[in-house]
Amino acid sequence: MAEKQGRVFSGARPTGRQHLGNYLGAIKNYVALQDDYRCVYCIVDVHALTTIETTKDLELNTQEMTLDWMAAGMDPEQSIIFVQSHVQEVMELHTILSMVTPLGKLTALPTFKEKVRDNPDNVNYGLVGYPVLMSADILLYKADTVPVGTDQIPHLEFAREVVRSFNHRYQTNILVEPHAKVTEIPKVLGIDGERKMSKSLNNHIELAATPEETEKRVMEMVTDPQRIRRSDPGDPDVCNVFSLHKVFSPPEEIDQINQDCRKAEIGCVDCKRKLAKNLNKHLVPFRSKRADLEKDPDIVKEVLLDGAKRARVIASKTMKEVREAIGFYGTKV
Ligand code: ADP
Repeated sequence: MAEKQGRVFSGARPTGRQHLGNYLGAIKNYVALQDDYRCVYCIVDVHALTTIETTKDLELNTQEMTLDWMAAGMDPEQSIIFVQSHVQEVMELHTILSMVTPLGKLTALPTFKEKVRDNPDNVNYGLVGYPVLMSADILLYKADTVPVGTDQIPHLEFAREVVRSFNHRYQTNILVEPHAKVTEIPKVLGIDGERKMSKSLNNHIELAATPEETEKRVMEMVTDPQRIRRSDPGDPDVCNVFSLHKVFSPPEEIDQINQDCRKAEIGCVDCKRKLAKNLNKHLVPFRSKRADLEKDPDIVKEVLLDGAKRARVIASKTMKEVREAIGFYGTKV
């Protein structure tokens, strides 16, 4: 195998069982990147504290998410998979980076404005500093490549500015400017066919659902809203069921459905049955791997603790360099 070049970092909040949106929008890409990069994948539980009200599900959500990640092909042998709070150096770097961050830059970020709109009663200090902690995550592991959707580009640009400010202020070059690997992230719509698939909207289809549950969810999906009677021709281009067919069904079947729907030769119920069948077929290896993983009650703990150990080796080296560059008492040898 060719030597892997860059280091990728990506993080996601512990949201528990993953759904098709997480899979198509993130996990599939995480799996693919493992072949070419040294990947560091982090469950960002500290970030989660900025918005969640209770931590009672934190442990279970971390467990379930890790199982889904692994069952989908994220490989702890190849990649470092760990929990953010297990490597405490990130909090230290966050504090240090906050001193080279103008407050105005943070409050001007579109994602901050959005979060204030969404949580007007909980605009906490951590929420403002979210991009600083995100920068600390990336910079601690000296990741040069960060897969992002277009909405995250300002955060990456922000991280690059933080690097330049830090390196300039302390006359060093130890922090590395990360590059955005802009990945075309499909926006997977929920079963309502309108909004982004999301757990909080309860419009999602979980990867780890049983075949029966999956079929039930698919049968609830909203199709082309203009198609009211069975005899009305449909428009696959505006139908969320068809957009999932395009991902999970074989090419000949996609073509057939496309033609038949336009001529009203197939009804929405049959079309959804076919999707459920193909989706369930696609998920067979995932489910079987998950069932295997579940047999070992310690597997998640072992993977995450080992990941943290490997992450800490990189993190502590970076922090030593950071402290020396700053010139904290006793750090110069
Ligand atoms: P976070 O806010 O930590 O990114 P989410 O659970 O919202 O946590 O998302 C995790 C990952 O899954 C992100 O990369 C996000 O872009 C992706 N994702 C979530 N929902 C969807 C969706 N409906 N369509 C496409 N991608 C999605």
